[in-house]
Amino acid sequence: MFFIFGFGRRKVRDDGPVVACTCPHCHNEVSLSLLHVSTWFTLFFIPVIPYSRKQFLVCPICRWSLPVTKANEPALDEMATITRTWRDGGLDNEEYAKRIDAFWAHLQPTAA
Ligand SMILES: [Zn+2]
Repeated sequence: MFFIFGFGRRKVRDDGPVVACTCPHCHNEVSLSLLHVSTWFTLFFIPVIPYSRKQFLVCPICRWSLPVTKANEPALDEMATITRTWRDGGLDNEEYAKRIDAFWAHLQPTAA
């Protein structure tokens, strides 16, 4: 009997736009998207156990990314909702800019 196992299979989930900003890398006006990247232990090429989960805010144009921690999830969820409301016209630009400032001010420092 033998087993074929491996490490490093990655799965990426895109939760969509979270916050509008000017990308610090490509300087385009973008909405940073929240990506969840999980890395899996595989058995017979089938992902069985995730052993690493990381989250990033990613620029959709240049793929620049900012790592964020699980502790930031409530703030990220709230900001995504605010961004959807703003895009649907339920929030004016001035109010949205205030919410963005508050979001960045409260974002937890990223863990190593
Ligand atoms: Zn960019």
